[in-house]
Amino acid sequence: MSEEKKMQPPDWSGVERVLVIMAHPDDPDFSCAGTAIQMAAQGIEVTYMILTNGDKGNHNPLITRNQLILMRKEEQRAAAALSGVKSVIFMDEEDGFLRPTPEIRKRVTREIRRIRPQLIICSSPDRYFSGNGYINHPDHRNAGLVAMEAIFPAADNPMFYPDMANEGYLPHKINQLYVSGHEDADVEVDVTEGIETKIASILSHTSQFPEPGEMEKWLKERWGKKQEDGSLRHFERFKGLHFNRPRTASQEEKKEEEK
Ligand SMILES: [Zn+2]
Repeated sequence: MSEEKKMQPPDWSGVERVLVIMAHPDDPDFSCAGTAIQMAAQGIEVTYMILTNGDKGNHNPLITRNQLILMRKEEQRAAAALSGVKSVIFMDEEDGFLRPTPEIRKRVTREIRRIRPQLIICSSPDRYFSGNGYINHPDHRNAGLVAMEAIFPAADNPMFYPDMANEGYLPHKINQLYVSGHEDADVEVDVTEGIETKIASILSHTSQFPEPGEMEKWLKERWGKKQEDGSLRHFERFKGLHFNRPRTASQEEKKEEEK
């Protein structure tokens, strides 16, 4: 089946707050910064949640683990600021060992109930590899699991963590979930306009990219999709899930006919 045919444009009607849940500093910038840039420009409040502290992202023996953690937080804050993302939450799980434990599920559920986003973006929980030369980082898969297990069945069910009501965090149901890096993607965001900002946000992670010029070239070549008129356009794609979806026009018509 052709992937191109089933792609839908995004529908952000009624979306005021978005929470992006990812494993590492730089994951949101690679996977959805273009989308975040557009959302922020429309007045949607975007929050990044980074589940791990990124303490394995370095091969320089002169940098200590604690220095690296601080550097990577600063880099992620700078990247978010470029994209118009006002808030970054660091959950500080150990890089490389993220697991969907009951503890992290509770902590993420608390943040969902506090922020009350209409839309969440997370990574794919079932992508083990891609193409022939890339094993997906297990933290990426587990970040997807952590996010999805917090969204359902926990966040909107008052029987989960009833003590949170005492903190003022009541059950919350989101309307849409975007899963990034899913092979069955069906939502496509054209991020061409913000592509320079997206690349700048990625390159804000200076500890990760010692040769930013090479990286920029690689990113542009890798991502650009040539159009029929020869121009290059850039896209971010997601598997889109809708909850509480309003009736479609044809369903409304059927309802009218039934009366
Ligand atoms: Zn990552």
